[in-house]
Amino acid sequence: MKTQVKALVVGGGAVGTSIAYHLARAGWDDVMLLERDELTSGSTWHAAGLLPYFNMSYATTHIHDYSIRLYKTLENETGLNAGFSVVGNLRMAQTRARMDEYMVYATTAETCGVPYEWLTPAQIKDRWPLIRTEDLEGAIFHPTDGYINPADVTMAMAKGARQRGVTVERKWQADAYAWHGDHWQVTCTKMVEKGGNLVASDEQVVIRAEHVVTATGNHAQRTARLLGIKTPAIPVEHTFIVMDKDPALAEFRKSNPEHPVIRDADAQSYVREERGGWILGTYEIGAPARFAYGVPDSFRADLFQLDLERIEEQYAAMIHRVPSCEDCGLKDDFNGPICYTPDGNPLLGPAPGLRNMWLAEGFSFGITAAGGAGYYLAQCMVEGEAEIDMASLDPKRYGDWMTTEYAMRKNEEAYEHVYVLHHPDEERPACRPLKTAPAYDRQKALGAQFGQVNGWERPNYYGPVDAGESHDHDSCSFRRGGWWRHAVDEARAIRETVGLIDATAFTKHRVHGPGATAFLDWFTCNKLPRVGRINLTYALTGAGTTRTEYTIVRRAEDDYYLVSSGAWQAYDHDYLCKAVDDRQAAFGRINVEDVTSQRGVFAIAGPRSRDVLSTLIRDGAPETALSNKRFPWLSMRQIELGMCPVMAIRVAYTGELGWELHHPMEMQAYLWDRLMDAGAPHGLRPVGARAQNWLRQEKSYRAFGTELGRDATPLEADLPRFVDLSKEFHGKAEMQAKGIRAKCVTLLIDGPDDADPWGREALYDGDDRVGRLTSGGYSVVFGKSIAMGYVRPELAVPGQKLQVRMFNRLWPAEVTADSPYDPKNEVIRIDG
Ligand SMILES: Cc1cc2nc3c(=O)[nH]c(=O)nc-3n(C[C@H](O)[C@H](O)[C@H](O)COP(=O)(O)OP(=O)(O)OC[C@H]3O[C@@H](n4cnc5c(N)ncnc54)[C@H](O)[C@@H]3O)c2cc1C
Repeated sequence: MKTQVKALVVGGGAVGTSIAYHLARAGWDDVMLLERDELTSGSTWHAAGLLPYFNMSYATTHIHDYSIRLYKTLENETGLNAGFSVVGNLRMAQTRARMDEYMVYATTAETCGVPYEWLTPAQIKDRWPLIRTEDLEGAIFHPTDGYINPADVTMAMAKGARQRGVTVERKWQADAYAWHGDHWQVTCTKMVEKGGNLVASDEQVVIRAEHVVTATGNHAQRTARLLGIKTPAIPVEHTFIVMDKDPALAEFRKSNPEHPVIRDADAQSYVREERGGWILGTYEIGAPARFAYGVPDSFRADLFQLDLERIEEQYAAMIHRVPSCEDCGLKDDFNGPICYTPDGNPLLGPAPGLRNMWLAEGFSFGITAAGGAGYYLAQCMVEGEAEIDMASLDPKRYGDWMTTEYAMRKNEEAYEHVYVLHHPDEERPACRPLKTAPAYDRQKALGAQFGQVNGWERPNYYGPVDAGESHDHDSCSFRRGGWWRHAVDEARAIRETVGLIDATAFTKHRVHGPGATAFLDWFTCNKLPRVGRINLTYALTGAGTTRTEYTIVRRAEDDYYLVSSGAWQAYDHDYLCKAVDDRQAAFGRINVEDVTSQRGVFAIAGPRSRDVLSTLIRDGAPETALSNKRFPWLSMRQIELGMCPVMAIRVAYTGELGWELHHPMEMQAYLWDRLMDAGAPHGLRPVGARAQNWLRQEKSYRAFGTELGRDATPLEADLPRFVDLSKEFHGKAEMQAKGIRAKCVTLLIDGPDDADPWGREALYDGDDRVGRLTSGGYSVVFGKSIAMGYVRPELAVPGQKLQVRMFNRLWPAEVTADSPYDPKNEVIRIDG
């Protein structure tokens, strides 16, 4: 057995096998795939093999699309038939809301080039008469996907991998991982059969590997323990049943091709043909999480007991939908572990805190995703970055605050929600509230409806005070939800009087020490601010794209305060710390402290914000303390508001006169009360994140995770004013080499009168698809929909007329000049 390789992939399911295959395809000729049992003996063996395109995420749609295209080619390459039945996929809607969901999805699908068709109930009946259609609104049909044999596709990829030089070792279990500065030493134990169990023998080898990938499926918790990290990948039970032959189906098939995969999302189930009968798979309520503390030795290619009661409702719904199956007996059942994460996306990317350690865990649609996951992860490993932004899949989107119970309950919730309407404005209820800042109860008493950001409860908007727990849930819509008019009032308050936004969830780091200045100058692309000033800047990836957006405050010569997006605390911390570790020897000592939970943040904004603060500020000359002279735009001052010491930053993400008030978390309740009292005579209103998101688009302020990410450079985001090309910085040459492939623009849209774009819609110039939206919302200033997105560079010209696809129609959109509201920043800089 080889004991030295470039890359060791642990886990021979569909995912690990695909990664080994793609690493070899990308040119790494020294790859080993290690499996503790037999290839496909994990969840892969009992998957139903469906390959659905449908997914509301841009990155995941790309991943699924790649898989589906790859699987069609594998037989040519390896001679092995993976049993890909391209039968299509029929997704039916029982309600108007479900059709709305499909229309929102369809425009996202278009941004990735995924084909689909619309069918009416009559068209469905005409093609597939066994399906009951009278209670349907319609359906979306994908003609190019279908289902595959999961074991066969894995074996085909394994053969392809072997053909490209990958070594496959079975019956070896990775048991310990140790990092030795430039390589891993992985202790592996020979596994042997004993009484039907697979147990560890005394035989061990140590494999030296430059890179390690773990794709250990249901064993993810054990893997995490061995690595000393936390991951929320924990399986949940998932069932499908196989029915006996259906005579009506046999009759139909005499003169017709196979049925597509039939999805009755409103009945939480999927159905497909299987040897003359049907398979019914369910996403029911009450499926329990399993193996939170490890998989027992006795559980190999095993299944759990079938719980028919749990899936009774879906079973009855299937008989309703395909009445001919009523008399078919039950032939077989599969109730197996399916790995989940709280948001249903896998954990794919670098492991937190570790070097050259890559995670590929938590796959719930692992057969569908395996091909693309392998392709894009191999790109990250071999080239440094993938061509799509992998942030939404990154393992570090969950922080250390997350516990086993949280992961279990959230994973059960994610499972239950597979077929629940995927409202873009949905906030799921499990495990909440968990992380609350001191002002939480006060905000709640004012009607705050919260969203969860990196675990923090953050007001999305303020509804009626006595609205109750279900208000937000009932407000959800694919169009303008019940919350919309509250957000309009809040956005107006900021433009016309004054509003108070809770931005406590922001990620905050202090970076200081003798090496801090040289380090940050190299790490970020803009000029560093002078002491007492702030700058907006970007840390780039090695490929020159945007890794993180920072507001940098220079508190002293070598003392900086970095503010970045709230959702990405662990993600930003990991990148910053690894960069510091790498560069400390060159730049001198650099200290990094994550102060996120120590500092709360309120943003006060609006024409009256200065008036509110001036009644609270304690200063020798309070009347001038907030003037442009003493407190200019883009500067920082330590001030006192009543008895609260505040680091105030003159900046406003809403584009209005305003300050961010960074304060000690333990004084937050006090500060909130003072601000609310002082603001009352000025009409101060608490404002949520949704209104803020609209307002920032009126100023063309890009947001991290939408306009800004690892698939575009800051120059493509059209932010040259924040890039100092006169200095050297990390990723500069790569950024310049990329050129401008697409450009970020702001658009005003004459859309439907009951909906705004969500930021995932396709953009057209005539018949040409020319780009996609990344953000969307409503502009109170212009009285119409507003959006941001990327288009071909030649179209990024103010006045350019385009169309945006919403609800299955094209609506006129016009590219605006940057910052359509207050383009000269006169309002934000107003003196007083
Ligand atoms: C009933 C059911 C139906 C499903 N239907 C579908 C479907 O239709 N479509 C779809 O896309 N997905 C489906 N899934 C989900 C799918 O099965 C999984 O997402 C997929 O198999 C995950 O593949 P994997 O490679 O990540 O994990 P696994 O297949 O579980 O592979 C992990 C492998 O790692 C090995 N391993 C673990 N620890 C070690 C170690 N320390 N050393 C060496 N080896 C190790 C294990 O032995 C195992 O072989 C279904 C799941 C269930 C339960």
